[in-house]
Amino acid sequence: MTDNPFFETWTAPFGMPPFDRIRPEHFPPAFDRGMKEQIAEIAAITGSSAPPTFADTIEALERGGRLLDRVSRVFFNLDSSDTNEELEAVARDFAPRLAQHQMRIALDADLFARIADLHARRASLGLAVDQLRLLERYHLRFVRSGALLRPEQKERMASISERLASLHTQFGQNVLHDERDWQLVLDEKDLDGLPGFARSAAAQAAKERGNDGRYAVTLARSAVEPFLTFSSRRDLRRVLWEAWTKRGAHEGASDNAPLIREIMALRAEQARLLGYESFADYRLDDTMAKTAAAVERLLLQVWEPAKEKARGERAALETVARAEGLNGAIEPWDWRYYAEKVRQVQYDLDEAEVKPYFVLDNMVRAAFDTAGRLFGLAFTEREDLSVYHPDVRVWEVRDRAGAHLGLFLHDNFARPGKQSGAWSSRFRDQESMDEPVAPIVVNNNNFARGNVAGGEPTLLSFDDARTLFHEFGHGLHALLSRVRYRSQSGTSVLRDFVEFPSQIFEHWVSAPEILRTYARHCQTGEPIPPDLLRRLLSARTFDQGFATVEFTASALLDLELHRAAASDLSDLAQFEREFLDRMGVPKEIGLRHRPAHFQHLFAGGGYAAGYYAYLWAEVLEADGFAAFTEAGDVFDPALAARLKDIYRAGDTRHPMELYRAFRGREPNIAALLEQRGLAGPQQH
Ligand SMILES: [Zn+2]
Repeated sequence: MTDNPFFETWTAPFGMPPFDRIRPEHFPPAFDRGMKEQIAEIAAITGSSAPPTFADTIEALERGGRLLDRVSRVFFNLDSSDTNEELEAVARDFAPRLAQHQMRIALDADLFARIADLHARRASLGLAVDQLRLLERYHLRFVRSGALLRPEQKERMASISERLASLHTQFGQNVLHDERDWQLVLDEKDLDGLPGFARSAAAQAAKERGNDGRYAVTLARSAVEPFLTFSSRRDLRRVLWEAWTKRGAHEGASDNAPLIREIMALRAEQARLLGYESFADYRLDDTMAKTAAAVERLLLQVWEPAKEKARGERAALETVARAEGLNGAIEPWDWRYYAEKVRQVQYDLDEAEVKPYFVLDNMVRAAFDTAGRLFGLAFTEREDLSVYHPDVRVWEVRDRAGAHLGLFLHDNFARPGKQSGAWSSRFRDQESMDEPVAPIVVNNNNFARGNVAGGEPTLLSFDDARTLFHEFGHGLHALLSRVRYRSQSGTSVLRDFVEFPSQIFEHWVSAPEILRTYARHCQTGEPIPPDLLRRLLSARTFDQGFATVEFTASALLDLELHRAAASDLSDLAQFEREFLDRMGVPKEIGLRHRPAHFQHLFAGGGYAAGYYAYLWAEVLEADGFAAFTEAGDVFDPALAARLKDIYRAGDTRHPMELYRAFRGREPNIAALLEQRGLAGPQQH
């Protein structure tokens, strides 16, 4: 194959992949050659008879695997954002082979011998701070992959990793298929209660799925939540809620239950091989939290206060529901509907009144402006670069002095072939080991597009706007990165720190300075009225009992699953039921993610025993943002400069060290309880 773009030098500006020329059949040969090249590079490193040096071992590793990195990043980004049957087949084929390749390197005894030798002499190598940490992280990564095991144990580790990669891939594809195949097709008469934006989005979704003239609600969160919030058709809310919470649990070919059982058994076995009692113990050993006990302590600190707040919220819901003639209990498909009514009464706030002020394009400009005021960044749209889907927009990012920092891609709309949820990723990471390399960052959201034919703009809920800022915070972490080594770039930090830069950035979407400028009515262009803004901001802790319960329940379940013995998981549904009972999870709230579609845990290993990380980072983030509040200026230049240092540092230093340098002390949990409205009276 002579015209494979992966085998050519890319000449588009700023290293942008030539998306217009990349086709599914280019990936297999590129993956194959990429793996082969990297194995040859490793052989060159281990083939040296001279004692290892940092340069000829660690830096050589950093320099290697370039083709594989390039093809992997393009492939996995496309497979998440714009997949099809051909890409899914490549994913199923290559996931286990890539895992096998990674393990082959991780378990290479000659390579580890060189790293271990350097590690033993690390104090006398004259290394800079970032180099020392890089060496320590390499050594730890190899040990945690099994480098110290006996040969037959290593073999078992490798085959488990290979099998897990297949299972993770299949798990994600099953969820995607349930989301793609299922839709609630409706007629005009079924839309009672739905405001204009939800009707437009449903009309657009139906049109995209060949039901022009009707309405469709898909299982994307941005479609489900408005329907559950506004539809007065309790029967349809129930149908939708049941389909939504059954994603991945439909019997048949896409049932995820058997996959979960096998994944859990294999993870437990890997942990035991490495000398840990459970996968949770293994996973958490390399985090800020360090132990399962520390994670549990944090989760339980919010659990009872959250349940208590939720009880109060339910009482208010019941009052409204009784007045409207509901005689039975509040069911999970009722919560959002009555919560919206309570919000209208208590805060005189109507989601349908708020939404016209949150035009997607304006909120994007708000995020850019915030990055400009805090960190001196400027964004210029580039329409000359080829993208992988017409929805994608590209911006060039420059610093205050006008120097190029990287590219930012925004892919904002829900569509078939795109994973649900929101995430940030990169096509290229920042580094400067041999020459400066600028990052190429992408943010994905799943917003319901406004009716294009009607010329309507896409409107966001306030929550959607917060999600936009969240992912943009991850994007900034990658764009602002100023490190030497690729493995330390931007978001390559400990898992329970990675949500800090994203979550703290969410605060600025609530900054009155930002909202007064960018929250403008979609038709009149009028800024959000001060009175509405005041009501919007004062309602921020509303329904936080619900939000904290559904999150924390999922985080506790994640921890329990990964501490359980495989024999306890033979009946997953029963395990889930017993957990819900034991913890007293309110049944009208339930879990934010049930196991069968808990992609954080099972579509990959990244957040396994790690879902708590959002709350862990929130302790730091709430405490960190309080510094700006205390300073009386959310754009305080001195604080912004110190915060920027965290975004720039990547993994060159331990996160707590970075945090202390920013805040001048360690964090405490008071600000988190305050921001979720969970602080007891004694703490006021
Ligand atoms: Zn995040």
